[in-house]
Amino acid sequence: MTYTDTRDKSVKTDFRTAVMNGMNETTGGLYIPTAFPRIPEECIKRTPEPNFRDIALAMAKPYVEGEIPDADLAALIQDAYPFAAKVVPVDPTAYVLELFHGPTCAFKDFGARFMARVMSYFNRGEDTRLHILVATSGDTGSAVGSAFHHVPGLDVTILYPAGKISPLQEKQLSTFDDNVRALKVNGTFDDCQRLVKTAFTDAQLRGTLRLSSANSINIARLLPQSFYYMYAALAVRNQSWRVSKIEEPAIIVVVPSGNFGNLTSGLIAREMGAPIAGFVAATNTNRTVPDWIATGDYEARPSVATYANAMDVGAPSNYERITAMYDLETVRRLFASYWLDDDGIIASIRSCFERTGYTIDPHGAVAWKAWDDIRSGALRALKDGNAGDFTKPGLTPNLPTWADSVLDKQAVGIILETAHPAKFGATVAKATGREPVIPDRLEKVMQLEDRAIPMENDYAQFKEWLLATL
Ligand SMILES: *Cc1c(COP(=O)(O)O)cnc(C)c1O
Repeated sequence: MTYTDTRDKSVKTDFRTAVMNGMNETTGGLYIPTAFPRIPEECIKRTPEPNFRDIALAMAKPYVEGEIPDADLAALIQDAYPFAAKVVPVDPTAYVLELFHGPTCAFKDFGARFMARVMSYFNRGEDTRLHILVATSGDTGSAVGSAFHHVPGLDVTILYPAGKISPLQEKQLSTFDDNVRALKVNGTFDDCQRLVKTAFTDAQLRGTLRLSSANSINIARLLPQSFYYMYAALAVRNQSWRVSKIEEPAIIVVVPSGNFGNLTSGLIAREMGAPIAGFVAATNTNRTVPDWIATGDYEARPSVATYANAMDVGAPSNYERITAMYDLETVRRLFASYWLDDDGIIASIRSCFERTGYTIDPHGAVAWKAWDDIRSGALRALKDGNAGDFTKPGLTPNLPTWADSVLDKQAVGIILETAHPAKFGATVAKATGREPVIPDRLEKVMQLEDRAIPMENDYAQFKEWLLATL
């Protein structure tokens, strides 16, 4: 596969370069494959559908062709995914896709674990270790730390702002041993990011250490997220007659979004043949993308804190990939777009629980409410020319091509549940009156010893520590 750049289509590079560089430092653009090949028809048609790892293998193959042999790729996937995504029907036209069965209980495990193993694979021949520096405001740090833990040839240093993340998040990223360590920085998330960025541009440091980043713009985090869209779409299609009494439903995937990496992965899966009719881009109060879809003007803004805090992004980085793939009119035909404020998130968690018995987390709750509104009247109003005020929570005024399937009751929704509700226990309890059951792997991490190393918000001290420790 050849990869190009969102800002300069004349760029041609391979998978290894795209992964190891993360982004194109010359243009500031993001890497993107030049094609999204359909997976074999046999794979798409088969009933029952292939299992998650077989789908992962079929989908990953074309992107690493000539760089990772099939047997190595299969071993890598086997090692990355001892868990899978799970489809749970909660009512006849709503399916929840649970993406929290990995070690840190959030969907970022899917991307981070694949990327860690790909980086390790490409680092095999090197006689020096590769040092990953990552600044985190919460969940990315634990997914990356966990994904790289004990992976050969790689070291990870996580920087997080002291006192500014939840106690559970802190435990999840500060208790690793071996090749992963956490620095508890006396400063803000922006300070952490500045320390990391300064290190990357420090020529003297880079002359001594091989440094790399692991942030969410890396193509090796995006591609593997497309696996579960394919898996879920095939699984839902195959059970839709039994569950929904619909033979060939239009499948709409509802994606709670922040940086829009997850949704971009969905677009890739659809290009590769996943039977997905369209998407709902659902956000919290950080509605940069809904506003863009509604008005045509893209305006990044500072992020606002919400209950769905992993989606608190005002300048979503994958906007650049989405617009490299499609123009605005195509996006308006393919996506409905929806946003929800904090009161709406609490009400949504409650209504989902009361009506279906399913405990959903604040991120999934944004998607649940979007789908529930869409199937129960919001699209009808749009079609009748009564678009709501998009500056209030709700749908943007564009009418997607799949609207008629919903109105004709021939559509089902897949709601992506991106985190386990127990990670946001207090918010969930506020809505439902009860604390979610904590999975063993979260319970265990609470018992581990905190190994975070205190660090001043001072580059000279950080650099000295790096040189002395790594
Ligand atoms: C990161 C995250 C999101 C947002 O995903 P994007 O790819 O940034 O759009 C949603 N929910 C949870 C729980 C997350 O951790």
